[in-house]
Amino acid sequence: MKKGRIVIISGPSGSGKTTLQAKLLKSKRVKGKLVESISITTRPRRKGEKDGREYFFVSDKMFRYKKRAGHLLESEQVFHCFYGTPRKYVYDLLKKGTHVLLGIDVKGARKVRLQYPEALMIFIKTPSLKVLKERLLKRKTEEPTDLKIRVAIASQELKAANRYDFVIINNDLKKAYAELENIVCRELFAKR
Ligand code: 5GP
Repeated sequence: MKKGRIVIISGPSGSGKTTLQAKLLKSKRVKGKLVESISITTRPRRKGEKDGREYFFVSDKMFRYKKRAGHLLESEQVFHCFYGTPRKYVYDLLKKGTHVLLGIDVKGARKVRLQYPEALMIFIKTPSLKVLKERLLKRKTEEPTDLKIRVAIASQELKAANRYDFVIINNDLKKAYAELENIVCRELFAKR
């Protein structure tokens, strides 16, 4: 059986990455063949989030333990919190021939690519930083200081876009989604 492939989706917060990812996972074309990896994080749970759905929410102590014990494929500090990808979960799925989707930041993506050079890397961005700021303001999940930090980090992250295999500009959600689905299906299924 052919091994599965890792699909990494990165992009600044406000780029629409999470919405696109969720839509992709529900699509008939990939359902069951591409599975999302749920990361662990020390970030406090946001309103509406559920443990084990968006993330596994863990304490700093538990995170440090998992990292030390080698349970994480990669881990990074993003904003003020820690995030990590579960190693065994990803490995087992790949071994079974299932493709695995990782929605992770640019630094984590780099680490995964070193271990899995064949990973498919897709970067999502807004047409401009101005649009990104507007989207974050509308979202209202961040405190004003966090918003500033997220915008500053976004401009840093954008510099990493050229290391990705594909860059999708999310100006119109429907078009961006069609582009994403086509890329993923072509890369994962047409080449097999
Ligand atoms: P949020 O807290 O808004 O859900 O995510 C913040 C950032 O952390 C996003 O850029 C997201 O892609 C990234 N992230 C989520 N999980 C992981 C992970 O397991 N590893 C890394 N390196 N980044 C992650």
